[in-house]
Amino acid sequence: MEKKKKFILPENELPTKWYNIVADMPNKPMPMLHPGTREPIKAEDLYPLFAKGLADQEVNQTDAWIEIPEEVREKLKIYRPTPLVRAYGLEKALDTPAHIYFKNESVSPVGSHKLNSALAQAYFCKEAGVTNVTTETGAGQWGTAMAFASKAFGLELAVYMVKISYEQKPYRRSLMQTWGAQVVASPSMSTKAGRKIITENPNYQGSLGTAISEAIELAMSTPNCKYTLGSVLNHVSLHQTVIGLEAEKQMEMAGEYPDVVIGCFGGGSNFSGISFPFMRHNIKDGKKTRFVSAEPASCPKLTRGVFQYDFGDEAGYTPLIPMYTLGHNFAPAHIHAGGLRYHGAGTIVSQLMKDGMMEATDINQLDSFKAGVLFAQTEGIVPAPESAHAIAAAINEALIAKEEGTKRTILFNLSGHGLVDMTAYDQYLSGDLGNYSLTEEDIAKNIEKLEKII
Ligand SMILES: *Cc1c(COP(=O)(O)O)cnc(C)c1O
Repeated sequence: MEKKKKFILPENELPTKWYNIVADMPNKPMPMLHPGTREPIKAEDLYPLFAKGLADQEVNQTDAWIEIPEEVREKLKIYRPTPLVRAYGLEKALDTPAHIYFKNESVSPVGSHKLNSALAQAYFCKEAGVTNVTTETGAGQWGTAMAFASKAFGLELAVYMVKISYEQKPYRRSLMQTWGAQVVASPSMSTKAGRKIITENPNYQGSLGTAISEAIELAMSTPNCKYTLGSVLNHVSLHQTVIGLEAEKQMEMAGEYPDVVIGCFGGGSNFSGISFPFMRHNIKDGKKTRFVSAEPASCPKLTRGVFQYDFGDEAGYTPLIPMYTLGHNFAPAHIHAGGLRYHGAGTIVSQLMKDGMMEATDINQLDSFKAGVLFAQTEGIVPAPESAHAIAAAINEALIAKEEGTKRTILFNLSGHGLVDMTAYDQYLSGDLGNYSLTEEDIAKNIEKLEKII
C-alpha cells in the first residue's frame, strides 16, 4: 500500500512571487471605509498602523504577481517547500475511492502556516526602519510565529494573548518567551481598551477582538512601532499563497488536479493560501474545482453570518471592513480551536463567497476531534484542533465519493500540528468535551446592532 506517498519539491522551486487574486477577480472586493469619514481607505491611511510595503499590498488590485523579497525567501527556506502527502492510511480507513492529499504546513518551526506571513511582515517592518512591533494572539500560534519572525529580523515584539488561551496554553506562551517576545494576558490594564473591558466585566476571558484593540492601541501610542495581524487582511492571504503555489506543482508531480480544495477557516488566511492559486484556474481556464472552507459550528460567520460592513476588532479601532460577520461583539464559545474563534471573514474571501466562487461548511467540536484522532491514528500526525475541521470536511467529501462510488480528488491544508494542544485532546478522550449550538437569537443579537451600511 505504501507506494510513493510524499511529493517534495527541490528547494529552488520555492515560489519567487506571491499570487494576488484580487487582480483577477471579476468583482473586486468593496473598499474598507474610514470609520470617521466613511471614505474608502487608501494605502496612506494605513501607514500609521502598518509598514508601508504591507499597506501597499493591502490595497493592490492590479498586480496579480508580487515579488517575494530575497531575504524573505531565505528565511522561508528553513522549512519550505513543505511536503504534499497522499493520505493512503486515511483513505484505507474510510474505504473510499477518493484520493486524499494534504499539504503539510505543520512542519514549520512554529508548527503552523502562520510563519509564512509572519516572516514577510517582520521583513517589511524592518525594511521601513521599525524597531518595535505589537500583535495579538488567540490560541498562540500567530504570537509564536511573530516571535520567531521578529527575532529573525531583529525586532522587539509585544504580544497580547487572549486570557483564556494564556491560561489554557501555557506552552505557547513559553515558546513566545523563548523566542524573546513579551507576552501580556488580554484584556490587560495596560491599555484603555483593556481597562474598559476589565472594569465592566472582571471575569471576561478575552477574545481576539479585544486583544486586537489592545495591540493597535499600543502600536499607535508608541514611537517607531507598528502593528501586525495574522489573518483576515488581504496582505496576509497574499503571503499564504506560497502554500497553494507549491501544492499546484506537487499535484502535477502526483499526476492529479483537485476536484475539491479544503481549508479550515478562522479569518481565512490558510484557506486563501491553499485555494487562490487553484481558483485562478477556475477564473481564467474554466476549471471547475470546488473550494470549501470549514468553520466551527460555534463561530459560523460564513454559513450563518451576514455580509455587511463591520469592525475587525471589539473596540472599533479598525477600518470598517466589508465582510461576512457575526457582529464584532459576538463572543464565541470557548472551543479548543482557538484560531477559529473570530467573528468575521476577510474581504477577498467574503466577496468570493458572495459571488458563489466558494462554499462554506460548519463542523461541530466533537466531529472535529473525532476526525483529528482518526487522522492521527492513520497518518501519524496529531493535527491542530483548527486543522481537524478541515480534516472533518475532507472526510465528509470522501464519504460522499464512497456513497456515489466515484473518484474524487481531495486536497486539504493541514494548517498545523496539535502537539501544544494536548490538553484539548485529553479532554476529548476523557469525554469532557461537548458541542455548542447557537440559536437564531444568539446569531441575530449582535448582527442586529450593526449599522446597515450596505
Ligand atoms: C490561526 C490558525 C488557523 C486559522 O486562521 P486562518 O487565518 O483562517 O488560517 C487555522 N489553523 C491553525 C493551525 C492556525 O494557527
